Amino acid sequence: MARWLAPSAVAACAGALGAGAFEGVGTGDLLGAAATAGFLSLIAIPVLLVASVAVRAIVTGWQPRALAKDLVEDGGGAPRLAGWVAMLWLGSLALAWATFQGTWQLHAWTKFKPDVVAFAQPVIAVGAALLLLAVSRPGARLFEGIARRIDARWRRKGRRTLLAPRVIFAGAGITCIALVYVLWRYVVTPRLGPIDTSLGTAPIVGLLVMVLVHALWRRLPTARRPLGLAILAMSATTLAIAIVTVFVRASTTLEIWGDRPFAGLAIERLFDIDKIRANISLAAFRPTDRPGSPHPDIILVTIDTMRADHTPPYDGSAEMPVLKELGARGTVFDYAYAPSNVTRRSIPSMVIGVAPNRVKGRVVGWALRVDPRHVLVAERLQAAGYETAGFMCCHGFWSPEVRTGLQRGLAHLEIEPDGKKLATRARSWLTERDQHPGNRPLFLWMHILEPHNWTLGVGEPHSEAEKRRFYDRSLTSADAALGELMLAFADRPPERAPIVIVTADHGEGLGDHGQPYHSTDLYNSQLRVPLVVAGPGIKPQRIDETVSLTDLVPTLVDLAGYTPPSGPTIDGRSIADLITSKRPSDPDRGVAFAAMIKDRSNPGGVTAVVRGRWKLIHNGSAYELYDTRADPEERSNVSSTRTEIASSMRRLLDDLQAAADQSPFD
Ligand SMILES: [Zn+2]
Repeated sequence: MARWLAPSAVAACAGALGAGAFEGVGTGDLLGAAATAGFLSLIAIPVLLVASVAVRAIVTGWQPRALAKDLVEDGGGAPRLAGWVAMLWLGSLALAWATFQGTWQLHAWTKFKPDVVAFAQPVIAVGAALLLLAVSRPGARLFEGIARRIDARWRRKGRRTLLAPRVIFAGAGITCIALVYVLWRYVVTPRLGPIDTSLGTAPIVGLLVMVLVHALWRRLPTARRPLGLAILAMSATTLAIAIVTVFVRASTTLEIWGDRPFAGLAIERLFDIDKIRANISLAAFRPTDRPGSPHPDIILVTIDTMRADHTPPYDGSAEMPVLKELGARGTVFDYAYAPSNVTRRSIPSMVIGVAPNRVKGRVVGWALRVDPRHVLVAERLQAAGYETAGFMCCHGFWSPEVRTGLQRGLAHLEIEPDGKKLATRARSWLTERDQHPGNRPLFLWMHILEPHNWTLGVGEPHSEAEKRRFYDRSLTSADAALGELMLAFADRPPERAPIVIVTADHGEGLGDHGQPYHSTDLYNSQLRVPLVVAGPGIKPQRIDETVSLTDLVPTLVDLAGYTPPSGPTIDGRSIADLITSKRPSDPDRGVAFAAMIKDRSNPGGVTAVVRGRWKLIHNGSAYELYDTRADPEERSNVSSTRTEIASSMRRLLDDLQAAADQSPFD
């Protein structure tokens, strides 16, 4: 038994080492690369071992060599085998086509009713399989006849047969790979949009190395023992390095966890990364008190997918009386930019305070699990003495089970998908809190999702105007939730009123630049968001200086009466002085950087920077320059006429991109 298992064990270890070496490239040092291979081996060795054993067991059962030998006729050709392989090949193709096309049709007929699709799909698949079974023998005989005729003609000129089993299998394999590629490239990808295929490379490398070792095992009987022992020793070494790394080099472990898909998966599953974080004391990032500064209550409301130019403070069409009123009595930032165009990249940058390309973490579901070494603004305020609470939509981002880490620092956490209900819960919690007044100030963060789901339950819009109306309606319901929350403070005297900040994580395409939704480009439709701040000591005013929501962390800490954090762990700057009119707005100042980060559904590779009035977008291949004041919809790219500005903006963008290599940790 052990003897039979030996080649599988060696091949599995070699495959894991191959995939690990592929993932470990660029880790920085040899130990990091070895640890990457070790972590990856923890999941790859068992998987590859099972795969190898299963395939070898099937091969042993089928005895393909004997079978092929039986089918070989005089002259070395096997026309019957060719017929059956051709039938199998075309049958598989027909079956795949029938199920794919069937599902596609069901989707079109039923507007994707999951139950109908689920019941009908097996019927289609079984029906197609039975039909293929019925025609398989006649089909195989037909192909056999064709193969026989072609081969006979070929051999008539004295050549060797075309139908040696080896040639048949190689031909089937090559055509199979070519066909899969063509289908993927021209049928699947255009329908599904960008898919991160790089995830498949490490497993393919692992499988290829495993197959190679099996092939060598049969051909090199004398080299087996030294080869096997060497591979097993290397595997054991990388595993040992990985285990030691967990305990001795915590930051390397967390880097691998965040950056390396499969080695990171092993760490995610097998070790508790939060334990490393739990050892860090809150005192380490307690902000410094500014003597004499008040510590007001701070309410942060983030409304998902809210683009600025649809809201009343920006002359938008949506009915939002509460936001309108806040804008009328507070500070409105005319040019506030989100750090990215998708929640999982924008929100972490907003509450950690580093640029989106410097946020470390790992994608879980649709969210980003942030590296536990990042400090969140709620933690900073909590360490400063604030009472903290979060009322969040939804579970995928804030549930403790998903462990995104975004809820860290929120001492009281409630999750509720419905914005209005969420606000009601926040309001009753606040009322309850008012019954027992303490002396700690409050930081409350509410995240509402309604505008993200503006297409839900409204049916197909019949025109562009109707589409925009649907979207505006979702903004109105978000505003109603905001209003419900504001009621909790209605009875407070003005000096005890909280500072209220309303903003968004990104906008929505709504057809601009050909994009219906978000996460697809960095034009203003997806990037420019409202930023409205109202409260005691804040006068009604408009700010035309460019700001980024990455500035939010130092600004919140500043508004709370503490010295804003700075250094390598913070990219933003405090704009509290603008909010409180201590400094006049400068339309030529202010930098906002945004990036699309490549991950599961985001093609990445697009970056943008705004400085003063100019905005430069690098779409991966070309640069576009826009005058955000004269051309807010970004219709005319002036990069070829304003070359001097374009090149200085380009240098700025390059610097901001290069900063991604600097560690965002102390
Ligand atoms: Zn979002």
